[in-house]
Amino acid sequence: MVKHQLAYSETLNCVQCGYCLPSCPTYVTFKKETHSPRGRINLVKMAAEGRISYKDMEDSIDLCLGCRACETACPIGVEYGKILESAVAAIAEQREQEMTVRNRIIKSMLLNHVVPKNRILNAMGAGLAIYQKTGIQKIARKSGILKIIPENLGEFEKVLPVVQGAMQKRKRQKHYDPNGKQLYKVGFFKGCIMDTMFSSINTLSIKLLQSIGCEVTVISEQQCCGALHQHSGEIATTITLAKKNIEAFEQYHFDFIVNSIGGCGAMLIEYEKVFADDPEWAERAKQFSGHVVDISVILSKHDLPFTKEIISTVTYQPSCHMTNVQKNVKAPLALLKQIPGIQYVELQEKDMCCGSAGIYNIVKYEESMKILNNKMKYVKEINPEPAIIVTTNPGCHLQMKLGIEREGLKNEIRTVHLVELLSEACGISI
Ligand code: SF4
Ligand code: SF4
Repeated sequence: MVKHQLAYSETLNCVQCGYCLPSCPTYVTFKKETHSPRGRINLVKMAAEGRISYKDMEDSIDLCLGCRACETACPIGVEYGKILESAVAAIAEQREQEMTVRNRIIKSMLLNHVVPKNRILNAMGAGLAIYQKTGIQKIARKSGILKIIPENLGEFEKVLPVVQGAMQKRKRQKHYDPNGKQLYKVGFFKGCIMDTMFSSINTLSIKLLQSIGCEVTVISEQQCCGALHQHSGEIATTITLAKKNIEAFEQYHFDFIVNSIGGCGAMLIEYEKVFADDPEWAERAKQFSGHVVDISVILSKHDLPFTKEIISTVTYQPSCHMTNVQKNVKAPLALLKQIPGIQYVELQEKDMCCGSAGIYNIVKYEESMKILNNKMKYVKEINPEPAIIVTTNPGCHLQMKLGIEREGLKNEIRTVHLVELLSEACGISI
């Protein structure tokens, strides 16, 4: 008997050719068939046919980054994302029961009580700003007290960005006029983690959009995109968040809904798939997603007001979801190469995931660090050494910062979001 909860029919499309294997970071790192896309597809197929239990595929699915590089590599278009999501959802309940109490609390706190709630995220951001700006951070680091927090969280404390305080964030308006003639009406999607930890990048994004003639509106009704929830099998919360976003944005008539976040942007353009069994919402989702673009797509079609040379070697670590789901490959590179003064050097295997993958680097810390080590091997091999690594997603950004910190290269290499580098070259600041 086939269990229809799993995407069984999609697993039948896989011809087991193995072309996807070299693109899979977990297969390349751990060298096991069960940690490859082909192996995972086989396990899901067997579980659907009742030949193995959900528990038998749990480790393999759990270790998948969801980067979807295998989908891009597959010559016959197997929709691995669909298979993965069905497997994650099917085993989520089982995993919930068997998780350690600590991990269950962390997951529940993050997904249901922190990420979807702007108020809590704003309070966290304000707390972080106080921690950083009052000297508490320096005292905590010197005293060694941070050693009492788990290693996976303690490591990330070292690379936290400087967070904008509540006062600075309150300065954010709802509406921004274009510089000069208006080209587009844009709704700006700010993201939740992005707007808490990297709100300055959102501010710079808005200013860059204004500089090419966009009227930008930041609607207050917008919610978390739901990506972290979907990747954790929390489908009901994903649907609720997606509906709220669609309802919120469809009241306005924007030419584009723009974001600067590879992972969230990918989720927003896949809302239609969330409502595969609900034709009314699927149509509304399709309309919504049809307006969503990454900021690099819009900026690359217009002349940016560059005023300054950036004399530096620059490399680019793309976000997996930007490449494999949004299929936005050319625009960030085209923009980078327009920046006066830079010397662009391609990072070997740049399309291989860095191991960040949502909260993977927290819940699967050791495996994530092994994948990151592979990435840093290539960063160190570049000659001349890159002085700047450009990212397009907050998760990748923190992961690359952590890699640089772990390699002792923080004085030689800095990590920036594409928007930060473009702003610097245009003389735009927050
Ligand atoms: S999503 Fe990424 S980690 Fe998972 S099987 Fe595909 S390539 Fe491998
Ligand atoms: S997913 Fe595609 S590339 Fe990978 S084994 Fe199956 S058919 Fe081949």
